[in-house]
Amino acid sequence: MAVPKKKTSKSVRNMRRSHHALKATNAVECPNCGEPKLPHHVCAACGHYNGRVAVTAKTSD
Ligand SMILES: [Zn+2]
Repeated sequence: MAVPKKKTSKSVRNMRRSHHALKATNAVECPNCGEPKLPHHVCAACGHYNGRVAVTAKTSD
């Protein structure tokens, strides 16, 4: 296993982690059912995409 020669300082460690923050997802409203969905994705709630049913959800009976 490779072992670092020098201990990473708190400053360098924190500067590296300055890019680690998560960004909020850009949700848009589904034109069919109004649920929030990701742009350019099939709606997870109703399965619609581009004004038609793209996928049909499996119903547990
Ligand atoms: Zn929908």
